[in-house]
Amino acid sequence: MANRTLYLGGTFNPVHVGHTRLALECHLHTGAEVVFVPCADPPHKAAPEIAAHHRLAMLQLAIDELNATVEREGVFRWDLSELERPGLSYTFDTLNHLREQQPYAVLVWVIGMDSLVSLNSWHRWRELTDLANLLVINRPGWQKPESGEIAEWLRERECAVEQFGARGGVAFLETSPVSVSSTALRHQLALGVPGKYLVPEPVCQYIRSHQLYLST
Ligand code: ATP
Repeated sequence: MANRTLYLGGTFNPVHVGHTRLALECHLHTGAEVVFVPCADPPHKAAPEIAAHHRLAMLQLAIDELNATVEREGVFRWDLSELERPGLSYTFDTLNHLREQQPYAVLVWVIGMDSLVSLNSWHRWRELTDLANLLVINRPGWQKPESGEIAEWLRERECAVEQFGARGGVAFLETSPVSVSSTALRHQLALGVPGKYLVPEPVCQYIRSHQLYLST
């Protein structure tokens, strides 16, 4: 498993304990390094209202805490290619870019179950596994699709994480369920409810000191 890299794409607006816990457990389960890929302009959501440098600063704090947790540098890091690319951040384009850089590597793109259920709305979704593997993480409130085109597409691809080749597989991993979302968190912060225990403590302090998310 050592030569596999896991990529976790997201808006991280802000990064929360759902993200950090799943990143930690994915690493512990696979031994792989985990790369956060913050998006510039998400295709299925409104563009983030706060400046990208704030999202990045909070992500850096979360990554530092994760590396400290495993007592190793560089296990968790980021890739800024989506932020550096103009236009909408299509995962297909990001995977193409990663594949060009690493033609033979075992690439794994991590998504939550909420992302899987709407995967068929993603740009060139059927081709994602031509470029990488998908690792799907449980998320409270979301179930694996059992019928329809996503379920059919999954049938030919589903395997265990241990069976991943360079590309082509879809595996499911159960991690500790964490019922936190950035949207709900932003609403709470706008109401004046502190983010404590929902975001890593350094992120909580950053939000407070920069007075972020005071309105939705
Ligand atoms: P929003 O509420 O703004 O949609 P989010 O909380 O889903 O944001 P994102 O940054 O969009 O956060 O998520 C990045 C990835 O992490 C997505 O694939 C998403 O499914 C997954 N994810 C986010 N939060 C959780 C969670 N609590 N449990 C499992 N997966 C999660």
